[in-house]
Amino acid sequence: MTVLFALGEMATATQSLDQDTFEALGAELGYDVKVVSPEDEDRELLESFDIDLEAEELDDAENMEPRPPVVTVMGHVDHGKTKLLDAIRHTDVVDTEHGGITQHIGAYQVKVTAEDGTRRPITFIDTPGHEAFTAMRARGAQVTDIAILVVAADDGVMPQTVEAINHAQAADVPIVVAVNKIDKEGANPDKIRSQLTEYGLVAEEYGGDVMFVNISAKQRTGIRELLEAVLLTADAALTLEANPNTDARGVAIEANLDKGRGAVATMLVQRGTLRVGDSLVVGASYGRVRAMFDDAGKDVSEAGPSMPVQVLGLTSVPRAGDSFLVAADDRTARQIADKREAAERQALLAKRRKRVSLEDFDKVLAEGEVDTLNLVIKGDVSGAVEALEDSLLRIDVGDEVALRIIHRGVGAITQNDVNLATVDNAVIIGFNVRPAERVAEMADAEGVEIKYYNVIYSAIDDIEAALKGMLKPIYEEVQLGTAEIRQVFHSGRFGNIAGSLVRSGTIKRGTKARLVRDGVVVADNLEIASLRREKDDVTEVREGYECGITLGYKDIAEGDVIETWEMREKARD
Ligand code: GDP
Repeated sequence: MTVLFALGEMATATQSLDQDTFEALGAELGYDVKVVSPEDEDRELLESFDIDLEAEELDDAENMEPRPPVVTVMGHVDHGKTKLLDAIRHTDVVDTEHGGITQHIGAYQVKVTAEDGTRRPITFIDTPGHEAFTAMRARGAQVTDIAILVVAADDGVMPQTVEAINHAQAADVPIVVAVNKIDKEGANPDKIRSQLTEYGLVAEEYGGDVMFVNISAKQRTGIRELLEAVLLTADAALTLEANPNTDARGVAIEANLDKGRGAVATMLVQRGTLRVGDSLVVGASYGRVRAMFDDAGKDVSEAGPSMPVQVLGLTSVPRAGDSFLVAADDRTARQIADKREAAERQALLAKRRKRVSLEDFDKVLAEGEVDTLNLVIKGDVSGAVEALEDSLLRIDVGDEVALRIIHRGVGAITQNDVNLATVDNAVIIGFNVRPAERVAEMADAEGVEIKYYNVIYSAIDDIEAALKGMLKPIYEEVQLGTAEIRQVFHSGRFGNIAGSLVRSGTIKRGTKARLVRDGVVVADNLEIASLRREKDDVTEVREGYECGITLGYKDIAEGDVIETWEMREKARD
């Protein structure tokens, strides 16, 4: 604190500082300060336990084998996500080896007979909806390889359909479209195809590269075709491989505390093979695998890449999206978990920082931290959102900076929007909408900026200005109060004291002031240096009361008016 003070920075011992300040402080104290990302920090932590991720990656690269795709089902509410996940579970039952899936563990695997006659597994994340998808992504866990977008043929593209598309595209995840409810009267699957072209999803039969499959989740028709489409899309768009012959790594996708069994977590293995007896670290929890169950509730002793298993034996419940790894022994696992917990606590303290705001966009741009302004647009009606998006994308700012709208939608600003803005460092634009309950607080805690507008042009002007690096906050002068000087007292100690009557508003000590004589400003940039009522120092005096004011300015006279004012940041509207 003392050194910082000498550098002109007032800070308390527990306050978060920015990188520049730390570097200056380090230089002053003779240290070379390096700022590391949480990922780097964790990497270093693991290295201190002789776990070398880079070496592992190299080793993996030479031992890759194909692995099943991991699929998430997304779409608008009531379009049939749950029903589809049910239908998919059951396609397998007829010719399955384990005869009947009964457990819900957060994910399951089915086998599909591919075109060439081979039986290939596909893993499904069994928590439909993009909330889970984005929440996991916000924690840095990318588990989904392919998204199935469910759209009801009797309803069409809806707000959450669009949200789902945006989430998948932001994560670079290929989409297979399931046009559902084709059994229903009034179902129009072709309309869905043409509607979705507007969102960049062009069906193969229209010359695009997205596979659309007509299904009825209720009657369980089209399910096999849909699964084949998933495999074909995986083969065409992705290389899905992992090294199965090594220590396991992956992600916890669901976890809870069971009365009888303790912490129960469903793990998706992403690399290596997880075995009973392995010592495990999952985020900040740890333990040893006591038993494992597959999606049929069957005891298994090992799980390879893309396989979901329920794991017993952790000492505490991890969070969905926490990544796990196998450690050399229990002690190592515990130490890593403890260190992580400590780091998390620290990070929480330091979290209250601004990410990107429109005003500082030119600064972070200049520092090379970003070259794209990411936006999330929420509005009250879809027409306005589209109009805003359209106009924004037409702003011409040259090649150096880009504008990306990572998500747009109708309705209040939700937790999900803030999650997305957190991952992609975006600014949220609210057009005639407000945040849902607790969302403003969450945005604040995450350092995500939300800007509100009710005129489209103001939003466009602001964003254009931000992109051009010209957006500075606008300040306006706000008058606080006026006082008329009734009498001037000469005092050796205080200079001239203005015996005054407050005419309007409030006169506050320490505010800016100017002196007006016969309607002309005779002195500007003064300050209410002291303020007294009778013999007492006071901080403010209201209209109608008398007071003594010193301005640190000698030439004052009876009849002069003291005006006080302050600069306030003006809201843009
Ligand atoms: P979710 O909110 O997307 O998970 O939707 P659900 O799976 O809960 O389905 C919503 C409603 O649509 C339920 O009443 C389902 O029975 C119904 N539904 C789902 N798929 C179909 C379908 O293929 N045909 C018909 N007729 N109804 C369906």
